[in-house]
Amino acid sequence: MKENKIIEINHLKVTFDDREVLKDVSFTITQGDVTVILGGSGSGKSTILKHILGLFPVEAGVVNLLDQDIATLKEKDELDFYLKLGVFYQNGALLNSLTVGDNVALPLEQHTDLPPQLIEEMVRTKLNLVNLEDAYYLYPSQLSGGMLKRAALARAIILDPPVLFCDEPGAGLDPVSLAALDELILKLRDQLGMTVVMVTHEVSSILRIADKILFVEDGVIGFDGTLEEARKSPLPSLKDFFTVGTG
Ligand code: ADP
Ligand code: MG
Repeated sequence: MKENKIIEINHLKVTFDDREVLKDVSFTITQGDVTVILGGSGSGKSTILKHILGLFPVEAGVVNLLDQDIATLKEKDELDFYLKLGVFYQNGALLNSLTVGDNVALPLEQHTDLPPQLIEEMVRTKLNLVNLEDAYYLYPSQLSGGMLKRAALARAIILDPPVLFCDEPGAGLDPVSLAALDELILKLRDQLGMTVVMVTHEVSSILRIADKILFVEDGVIGFDGTLEEARKSPLPSLKDFFTVGTG
């Protein structure tokens, strides 16, 4: 089967205050894979995601996403384009004044003209998918940490994005809730064919969900390969990561 590239980055360079955080970053991401971006704290993982998501202008290099060079996107097309992406931030908090159902419905209400009945149906389908079918009328304050993350995930995928970006989604979760979140990520990949790009430090998660690993070090991609290859890699920093489990 032909491997479809859903993201292609070539020679991306990012400078903050005269400091080259990313010197020369190139990689591709294949459709239907869970790709984990690894690297030490401050190595530039979130910066990579933010550049793919168009939150910073591309200073040098090319970011190609869904067959679109994002630097050539017309301003009037930007909203429609970025709406196709699912984003799940570490602090992807829900609005406390709204029920879970209304929180998950927000993107549909803001960006579509669908009738309320259909919106409710779509929200219930997604809540069902993340095993929160009973939380429709609950408020965020009534949910556990793991349930909050799953509700945020339901909201991130309510518009059926082909790609889901997650920046440390498991932060602060106990091992059982983390495993439940990982199960859902795999469900999105296996049942919906979603491509997932995730930054995480959680070794247990990586071992469960990663198809591919990108390791960011010294402003470049120091390793790019399968999970299997990453675990056998002689690269000292990557080896340390899998044995010690520190990020
Ligand atoms: P990571 O996600 O790998 O921990 P980040 O991508 O957040 O790292 O940050 C990489 C480096 O860039 C850090 O040194 C951080 O302080 C710096 N940085 C990130 N965003 C900005 C910004 N908007 N302005 C200035 N420096 C930034
Ligand atoms: Mg980060």
